[in-house]
Amino acid sequence: MSPTVAIIGAGFGGLCMAIRLEQAGIRSYTVFEKGGDVGGTWRDNTYPGAGCDIPSHLYSFSFEKYSSWTRRYPGQPEILAYLESCADKYGLRPRIRLGAEVTSIAFDESLGRWRVRTADGERLFDVVVSAVGQLNRPRLPDIPGMSSFAGPSFHSARWDHSADLTGRRVAVIGSGSSAAQLIPPVAEAAGHLDVFQRTPNWVIPKPDAVFGPAVRAAFRYVPFLQRAYREWVYRYAEATLHSALAGGWSTGLLRRRALEHLHARIPDPELRSKLTPAYPIGCRRVVIDSAFYPALARPDVDVVTDPIVRVTPSGVETVAGHREADVIVYATGFRTTDFLAPLEVVGRRGRRLHEEWKDGAEAYLGIAVPHFPNLFLLYGPNTNLGHNSIVFMLECQVRYIMGCLPYLAGAGPMEVRPEAMDAWRRRLDRAMGDMVWQAGCTSWYKNAAGRVVNNWPGPTTLYRRLTRAPRPGAFRFGG
Ligand code: NAP
Repeated sequence: MSPTVAIIGAGFGGLCMAIRLEQAGIRSYTVFEKGGDVGGTWRDNTYPGAGCDIPSHLYSFSFEKYSSWTRRYPGQPEILAYLESCADKYGLRPRIRLGAEVTSIAFDESLGRWRVRTADGERLFDVVVSAVGQLNRPRLPDIPGMSSFAGPSFHSARWDHSADLTGRRVAVIGSGSSAAQLIPPVAEAAGHLDVFQRTPNWVIPKPDAVFGPAVRAAFRYVPFLQRAYREWVYRYAEATLHSALAGGWSTGLLRRRALEHLHARIPDPELRSKLTPAYPIGCRRVVIDSAFYPALARPDVDVVTDPIVRVTPSGVETVAGHREADVIVYATGFRTTDFLAPLEVVGRRGRRLHEEWKDGAEAYLGIAVPHFPNLFLLYGPNTNLGHNSIVFMLECQVRYIMGCLPYLAGAGPMEVRPEAMDAWRRRLDRAMGDMVWQAGCTSWYKNAAGRVVNNWPGPTTLYRRLTRAPRPGAFRFGG
């Protein structure tokens, strides 16, 4: 009999898991999705200019290639439409429960099963797959006076489409990847834009292009072309970008590219100096966008680097004075390091996952946690990338979990051994030593103690190899 599987989240990860189960003829699964539709981060992030800086052909499932991408880099509406079409094509919808937030999961040792709780009650499952993402909980800053602001104010991932920005004074707080994408269209609409930047990011241009009908037809009718293009994009990112993050041969090239872009697009030396980072390239997520700098160079846009003191009813006060605003956009990122929060996860002998993780989230291969049998994580700790497609990592993880399922039928719940976790941690620590993320910078990759808990430090080819199939010796089986 097939195991029953609860999948939490219907973004890229949850849908991938559900599709692979369907393809294996396992229909005893339920996808719990707290939102009103599938799509995860691509459903939530509807800010103007939202898109992906990984090429479309790679930012899609290897088994569900899509030849009709209209651009080299996909926009949010097109990615969301792709995910919706996957849910439809693979017949997942009947097993997706929308508006169903899982509030807690607890392993019942006497039954060897998970109790999965939503507002509607509790159900038992053999296996739980968490696919809640790393960038799904907006992080609003803690600036005094925020609630006193008289106009509309909202986080970039909760865009208020009823707020008309036309001709208004707009303040954007933050200058990361989300800000870089939304600032050009906002600057276009607004009367004046103040960008409050705390730390400059390295920026490289995004060589976007429209795929016209001829290119799309070529991708559609010559499948080899699409496969070859996808493979080339993957290999290129792996060879050049990963090496740059590991302090390899391409670091200098990447830095030079970023500086050339800065000099070409920002003629004003004062502004240029504000935008020049003082830490090595790659230490934080590199912004990949061609429209960001030209928008910052507009006469009706100011980059404000004076520290913010408070938000007032009519704007933002910095140490240098008050700046009027009609609308405030918080492009201030996400709660990235407290994985799975606010979900309560209770494993064997009442162990609480967040207690286990108080010094930093960690999981064997980013997938399994000791004392939490039959719980598998997608996009878990140390599986984020700064250089390639997360969809690739998700597919590796899903394949691995599919490889675990046959073991459950005979041997009972499987639980990664603490020794395997220890060896994995040592391996990560060794590899992490080579990576530029450790250099002197703050970033969302690190927890409060400064440990990099989000990123995978190796090449993705290595991750694929390590996750090809479960190694039974790494697990303990049974009740
Ligand atoms: P982010 O990179 O974490 O940027 C948050 C910004 O808000 C930073 O500039 C930060 O300043 C600023 N900030 C936070 N708290 C502040 C405060 N109290 N006062 C002033 N400024 C404050 O978040 P994000 O831009 O949403 O991007 C998150 C990640 O999502 C990206 O790194 C990327 O992986 C992903 N993303 C990807 C794409 C894509 O195209 N693939 C697009 C958007 C997002 P500090 O830097 O000083 O902390």
